[in-house]
Amino acid sequence: MKRVCSFILVFILSAMGWTAETQTQHHEQKPDDPFRLQKLTDSTYALYGEGGNVGFHIGPDAVLVIDSQYRKLAPGIVGQIQSVTDKPIKYLINTHFHGDHVGGNEYFIKFAIILAQDNVRKRMLASPQRILEDYPKRLEDAKKKGDTESVQFFEEQIEWAKKVKIEEIAAPFMTFDSEFNIYMGDEAIHVWHTPPAHTDGDGVVFFEKEKVVHMGDLFFNKVIPFIDVKGGGSARGYLTAIDKVLSRIPADVQVIPGHGEVTNIDGLKAFRQYIQALNDTAAKAKSAGKSKDDFLKEVDLPAYKDWNGYSDRFKQNAEAAYDEAK
Ligand SMILES: [Zn+2]
Repeated sequence: MKRVCSFILVFILSAMGWTAETQTQHHEQKPDDPFRLQKLTDSTYALYGEGGNVGFHIGPDAVLVIDSQYRKLAPGIVGQIQSVTDKPIKYLINTHFHGDHVGGNEYFIKFAIILAQDNVRKRMLASPQRILEDYPKRLEDAKKKGDTESVQFFEEQIEWAKKVKIEEIAAPFMTFDSEFNIYMGDEAIHVWHTPPAHTDGDGVVFFEKEKVVHMGDLFFNKVIPFIDVKGGGSARGYLTAIDKVLSRIPADVQVIPGHGEVTNIDGLKAFRQYIQALNDTAAKAKSAGKSKDDFLKEVDLPAYKDWNGYSDRFKQNAEAAYDEAK
């Protein structure tokens, strides 16, 4: 829903003639400004907007950006970066293939090298097909509910999927299998692929010297995650993936989640706790012989009720965990 609203919002903003240039002239927050910039170190920032959180790092000669939100927000993202540096944006890393993290690629591809794990490219190139398979039903559901914003969104996406040529999709054009390093001045930037969790192409970006990690959607801070099983994701994999990252980052790291506010290692561990509780509850019910329907009817984790998205996504999380439980 948030995604749909943001499309509407950016549509209104662009209709009002809102551009990157006007962004750079007005740094203070305005009521219709989707962006909020948070300085984490001398050269590393988090940027909140309408979609997955953006991170960026200013090196001696160039800027590296993590995730690009939506196409219509991309000029504004660039404007925000230009409000703190005049160095050119040279690299964009995508943490995974979802539209709220890669939508701006179309804009960035004109000047940046786009990097991601192999499966991000594969999934992006396959996205028109996935839209044509999944969205007609979701469009019908939205029509039944009278949800006009969603109807418009699904119709536009279906139209796009019908028309787009594969070579027009702004997928990462440099990809890696398990790990990739970029060196910018005295900073070593490590990009790690993790076991399937949110999707099967999740990449985590760790700034070794600055001690900042961008988790992509491996981490939703105080927000119930989306586990994209169709996109190769896994409820159990989330645990393995987070543990892999925890074993490689220092205790005093700053953590940028895919969604929610920047936090520290305790915030990440609190999210891991949720994933653990989810998997444990599902495994217990399954081993006690409970059917999936009965489990889904009664499953509840009251400690997480105040997390954003509980009513929308918790049951989907529980279903994924039940299906995978032994
Ligand atoms: Zn995602």
